[in-house]
Amino acid sequence: MSLIKNILPGEGSLWVAWLRSYMFNTNDFWYVVVKTNMSWSLKQILKLRTEASSILPSNSKKVCDIWNGIRVKNPKVHWHSLLWFPLLIPKHSLIAWMIFLDRLPTKERLHRMGVDNECHCIFCGAGIETRNHLFFECPVATALWFAIFSLNGLRFRHLSWDSLYDWDVATWKGISLLTSIMKISSNALIYIIWKERNKRFFQCHASTVEAMFSTIKEIVGFQLRAVVNASTVD
Ligand SMILES: [Zn+2]
Repeated sequence: MSLIKNILPGEGSLWVAWLRSYMFNTNDFWYVVVKTNMSWSLKQILKLRTEASSILPSNSKKVCDIWNGIRVKNPKVHWHSLLWFPLLIPKHSLIAWMIFLDRLPTKERLHRMGVDNECHCIFCGAGIETRNHLFFECPVATALWFAIFSLNGLRFRHLSWDSLYDWDVATWKGISLLTSIMKISSNALIYIIWKERNKRFFQCHASTVEAMFSTIKEIVGFQLRAVVNASTVD
């Protein structure tokens, strides 16, 4: 159980959502066969089914019940609503979650962990690649934030990563269309920046800021159309 607690840090609900959506959507958790191509962590979870079943009522063997039975409940972080909302894109929220916790392996973080690497930003070459630089201070990030805010009729006038997200938390409440668009856009923006950063780093292939912005717009449009189509079918 301690292994699961370590694997599922913080809120943990994304893991539960991911497991239920992608691994157990058609198969009962208790009868899924462990396969060699499964991740190590998932194999560990499945190995603990027998032990988990002993701490749960026999009629409630659901993944969420297991999770609620073993997890340590911590207070919600104030920015949780920016990541977990009805129209979220799981992989975007996952990256955003790691960014909020400053857990992505930026060059500066790797350096702090003892890696002997150079730390300059791969986009501008001037700043040190910290979380705040990569996703806010870098001219590439700033241009994308300006573009997204402008597209939605808003002025971007934030001076720091913290002030931006404090403002987001205070502003983007409820389920209005603009709120949903800004949450999807913000998470897509940081996901695209991280993806582009890795592409430049590992594949030596660079996209323009305009192309990155177009991708973000496509993501938002696709997500909104998917909801409209789903509601139409219903
Ligand atoms: Zn930079």
